[in-house]
Amino acid sequence: MTMDGDFRTEFVREPRALKHFPALVLNADYRPLSYYPLSLWPWQDAVKAAWLDRVDIVSEYDEVVHSPSTTIRIPSVVVLKDYVKPQKRVAFTRFNLFLRDEFKCQYCGAKGDLTFDHVVPRAKGGITSWENVVAACSPCNLKKGSKLLSQTSMSLQKKPIQPASGQLMNMGRKFPPNYLHESWMDYLYWDAELEA
Ligand SMILES: [Zn+2]
Repeated sequence: MTMDGDFRTEFVREPRALKHFPALVLNADYRPLSYYPLSLWPWQDAVKAAWLDRVDIVSEYDEVVHSPSTTIRIPSVVVLKDYVKPQKRVAFTRFNLFLRDEFKCQYCGAKGDLTFDHVVPRAKGGITSWENVVAACSPCNLKKGSKLLSQTSMSLQKKPIQPASGQLMNMGRKFPPNYLHESWMDYLYWDAELEA
């Protein structure tokens, strides 16, 4: 674990991959460091951070781990002692772009099998940027081909812009992971639409 590095991007997107006793990591303001992926550490990292006095333990599992000299309960929620400032600039990555577009085709709204579309096609000088790349389903991507939007009957659901980190964080709140420990719930505020 690199506590000094940029550990905001290290979280797994699938909490079940951590298998045993992941700890929810809160910033010093008691908000999760990240919603999507949810800021979780493997229990070993949480125990180590507590031992190094980098975090306070807020909640614990019933299970314990033993060292030669001591027994400690495995933390389920930890809070950083030092506040980590949110990144100002959002990295231009596949994941962040899909997240900005809420994992929906920006032309027809379809979810699922998504790819990218250059709004102004590369063949016509379009660049790869927040403002010119959107999530698109394969049928829309194919339909649009290397045409300009004005040469099609298609339109964008919203203007593509570079998101601020706070906006992206809020987007992440729409996508709770499929595993959540009950002790985390007091610190998480999901923005998901409820299934009718
Ligand atoms: Zn589509």
